[in-house]
Amino acid sequence: PRFQDLALSAPILKAVEAMGYTHPTPIQALATPAILAGRDVLGVAQTGTGKTASFTLPLLEKLSKSRARARMPRSLILEPTRELALQVAENFKLYGAHLRLTHALLIGGGKLNEQRDILNRGVDVLIATPGRLLDMFDRGGLLLTQTDTLVIDEADRMLDMGFIPDIERIVSLLPRQRQTLFFSATMAPEIRRLADNFLNNPKEITI
Ligand code: AMP
Repeated sequence: PRFQDLALSAPILKAVEAMGYTHPTPIQALATPAILAGRDVLGVAQTGTGKTASFTLPLLEKLSKSRARARMPRSLILEPTRELALQVAENFKLYGAHLRLTHALLIGGGKLNEQRDILNRGVDVLIATPGRLLDMFDRGGLLLTQTDTLVIDEADRMLDMGFIPDIERIVSLLPRQRQTLFFSATMAPEIRRLADNFLNNPKEITI
């Protein structure tokens, strides 16, 4: 398919075109319709496959089509490291260049007060590492009651880094009714068990 076949709107297609991409990668072609249809996704894909855009583009599309009641985060992207979180934020910035959506980073190393101020101004998308997210939540600086879309990226690295208890707690703070997208480079039994826990009838995509 071409990007124009993926039911993405003009502002997003314009940003994709500006990047010089002509065709969606396999994971983008498979994940985009599933995410737009509201399905959970279990994506087994390495970095370098176009995985980031495979969730960023449809999430931007969905957010641009729905109205925020309050400017509380509606989507949460969890990344194992600050470097990955920064990369994902860059993707939201590039692909969302022609949309009026906001995002914020919640990562270790950044100043808590500054991050809290940004949250208070209101954001649509939160890109976070698990520890800093919980730190902010426990300080009362974060409400997740509108966060009905969750991305758990690089789940195998989350497991290696011991973040699973944090992720389980974060999931317990989100609305029960939500869309969850779960990506991992490998599908070891423990990852499969996690995915079964977090996902509801996911579309499985293995690249
Ligand atoms: P990722 O797997 O998300 O880390 O992306 C790997 C690289 O592929 C990044 O540098 C992207 O900018 C690039 N990329 C993503 N989607 C496409 C596409 N459809 N066509 C060409 N390059 C892409």
